Amino acid sequence: PVGLTIRNVSKTYPNGVEALNNISLDIPPGMYGLLGPNGAGKSTLMRTLATLQEPDEGQLFLGDIDMVNQKDAVRQTLGYLPQEFGVYPKATAESLLDYFAVLKGITSRAARKETTEVLLKQTNLWDKRKQKLGGYSGGMRQRFGVAVALLGNPRLLIVDEPTAGLDPAERVRFLNLLSELGEASVVILSTHIVDDVSELCTNMAIINQGQILLEAQPLSAVAAL
Ligand code: ADP
Ligand code: ADP
Repeated sequence: PVGLTIRNVSKTYPNGVEALNNISLDIPPGMYGLLGPNGAGKSTLMRTLATLQEPDEGQLFLGDIDMVNQKDAVRQTLGYLPQEFGVYPKATAESLLDYFAVLKGITSRAARKETTEVLLKQTNLWDKRKQKLGGYSGGMRQRFGVAVALLGNPRLLIVDEPTAGLDPAERVRFLNLLSELGEASVVILSTHIVDDVSELCTNMAIINQGQILLEAQPLSAVAAL
């Protein structure tokens, strides 16, 4: 598995807000937590990593792929679960996942059948695959978002504030699911909830007002107590 390198990344919006101010991070494979209050710059960094937005300055590398100048290469191996995952309420999980698989370039029907079955089982939605998404709970919708984000086995999974709408039991199950998936790739989880990070992330950074305040290893810190 490859890691992610962020070097001196800055971003100022046209309204003058300096959302990212000279951010540098070395992110190893595994679960990485980006913790910070609202307005800290988390979503801006996550959208930048998802190649949806370009930094004004700085470099980002996934392994040796230049994430600013080789966007297509990054997108082939990227999964992004945005804060607001829009679903089509009348579609079933099975049909919509199949549709997203087509968009991801999985053209063979047999390959799609196999891929979507694995993902729906992994996210514990297999029994509910023929239900309409409009009837899904918040936790089920989030897990469906994970299934979509995992199409094509991404080496980089970007998850922006995923536990916001979840009840406590859903939250724990969701984080456990992410940590299982996190072993094979870089998973970056942005959150303002300390427990999201301290329970499962092997590495973390705290961001505030566009700057990194601290980098730490929460699990080893807890283990040392
Ligand atoms: P977080 O995800 O940590 O809440 P954001 O990255 O969304 O932080 O926002 C960082 C700062 O940039 C905030 O002050 C926010 O208001 C501002 N901001 C975010 N998106 C935009 C935008 N599209 N245009 C202007 N300002 C923005
Ligand atoms: P809710 O019942 O509030 O809609 P969920 O949609 O999160 O909650 O879960 C539906 C069912 O799937 C529950 O019975 C739960 O025990 C089970 N479940 C949810 N997530 C997982 C998971 N990651 N692994 C195993 N079982 C899960």
